[in-house]
Amino acid sequence: MNNLDFSKPIEIAPKIWWVGYVIPDDPFQCHVYLIENGDESILIDPGSMITFPVTLEKIVQVTALKNIKYIIMHHQDPDIVGCYSTLESIMPYREDRRIVTHWRTWMLLKHYQWKTPFYLVDKEDWKLKAGNKELEFIFTPYAHFAGAICTYDKENELIFSSDIFGGLTEKFKFYADKDYLEEAKLFHKHYMPHKTVLNYALKKIEEKHPKIIAPQHGSIIKEDMVQYMIDGLKDLDCGLYLMDDYIDDVFILNEVDEILKAFIESLIVNEPFEKLISKLYEFLHNHIGLNAVSVITDHFKCTINEKGKSQKDIRADYEFDIMFKNEKIGKIVFEFLGSLNEKDKMFLDVLNKKLSLPLGASLYRYLILKEYEEKERVLYEKSIKDPLTKLYNRNYLYDFLDRKIKEAKKHNFPLSLAVIDIDFFKKINDTYGHLIGDCVLKSLARILQKHFRGSDIIARFGGEEFVVVLPFCDLKDACNRLELLRKEIESEYFCKNNLKVTVSIGVTELKKEDDKNSLIQRADENLYEAKKSGRNKVVCK
Ligand code: GH3
Ligand code: MG
Ligand code: MG
Repeated sequence: MNNLDFSKPIEIAPKIWWVGYVIPDDPFQCHVYLIENGDESILIDPGSMITFPVTLEKIVQVTALKNIKYIIMHHQDPDIVGCYSTLESIMPYREDRRIVTHWRTWMLLKHYQWKTPFYLVDKEDWKLKAGNKELEFIFTPYAHFAGAICTYDKENELIFSSDIFGGLTEKFKFYADKDYLEEAKLFHKHYMPHKTVLNYALKKIEEKHPKIIAPQHGSIIKEDMVQYMIDGLKDLDCGLYLMDDYIDDVFILNEVDEILKAFIESLIVNEPFEKLISKLYEFLHNHIGLNAVSVITDHFKCTINEKGKSQKDIRADYEFDIMFKNEKIGKIVFEFLGSLNEKDKMFLDVLNKKLSLPLGASLYRYLILKEYEEKERVLYEKSIKDPLTKLYNRNYLYDFLDRKIKEAKKHNFPLSLAVIDIDFFKKINDTYGHLIGDCVLKSLARILQKHFRGSDIIARFGGEEFVVVLPFCDLKDACNRLELLRKEIESEYFCKNNLKVTVSIGVTELKKEDDKNSLIQRADENLYEAKKSGRNKVVCK
């Protein structure tokens, strides 16, 4: 490819010549092709007055001008037909010369008043026979002109595709590589009015299984790239200018469209809101130097920057509301590394308009989910806690004990259990009333919570009876800790001046043969012994 000489005709397939002119620094190259076919040679999309002098030089290197019998014009644009008045005037006259086009194109071309008659493909069964050469025409309406056609050379399995497969290219490449797809995408997205139009044309082209595609703009597509290009252009969202009724910068519209697509895709696969914001951050960070983005709602704030997620405040260089069903449910704030130029602002304005709906939908779903999770958490808390003391209830204790006993046996660590019962609690109720009784229970619960460590579990087992499970604690340690507790309680005043409370405690340690019931029962027996032998005691066995 490097040794192609663009100053000469280039044979892209047997007797198929590229006779174009590479216009320096022009992203929109226009190609002219010539089918060398004796005195029935065919010139395809002859070109403009810019390309004509060089094209003419190349044509005559392949064949004499008099040999050109057919001139195919895929549509009527000036970069296709602009040179024809001049070309017609210098070509030796021949009566049988024809301009090959569609009737819709002819309606416009007739205004040039050329002398050459027309051959209308739609009236000729979409075929042309030129000597031994047989060409077929593919109707590709609205891509981009109502009467647009492509030409298929059966013998070479080659399609002259006119505007389809064209591209706006930064650097001219004669043959397409994989990068060309992106350049072709942008061109098709704004130049073709709708994806149905483009898909219709692509389908017709695909049906021919071409081995080579020679577009009028961009790069020629060789066999190994044909399917890649067709697949890449399918389902492209064309009609890009319709995206916004104010901004018409095709690059801005394209970028917004790309973000939007990524966003909608993510939404469809149910990506969490925070991940969407991370994606948005990445895109804007790479494209216009976003430093950080924050989403702020009444319930939470989430900031994403290079370092990850936080709740940091950021500078509001640009912000917009996040709406859902006409209601503001939050706002999104952007902080940039540098200052924004007019183009960046325009870009953000379109992004704002286009993003607010999917962003709102995603945030709304996220908020609902959060609310649901919170409700679920509260419900779960309620289901495992005692409402008066906020200690765990008996259900939770049983579950926890089952799990911990299993673990302790498996990993061979000690586990102790204590049953704590208030002494003469009935008397407290009787003397001071139930409210004071309740207060004593709550105060005792607080003391228990302070006294034991996080890995211990404290549960209200019954009225004024509590159970503490102490994993990683043998009988001796457990006894010491419970004895300290007993003393601490003894030294406190509860709820009312001079109200003293004592507890009796039974402690035991897990044995190999124990399950939760036998463990609790043994502790309970020890408690009974403590009560019997005078109360305000710890019995450990
Ligand atoms: P002992 O020293 O033998 O344990 O005597 P006790 O009076 O503490 O034991 P008993 O089992 O005879 O009485 C327990 C009392 O606890 C009876 C019950 O009314 C009271 N009680 C149980 N639950 C609550 C509660 O939630 N609030 C209040 N205020 N009292 C409760
Ligand atoms: Mg009691
Ligand atoms: Mg009791």
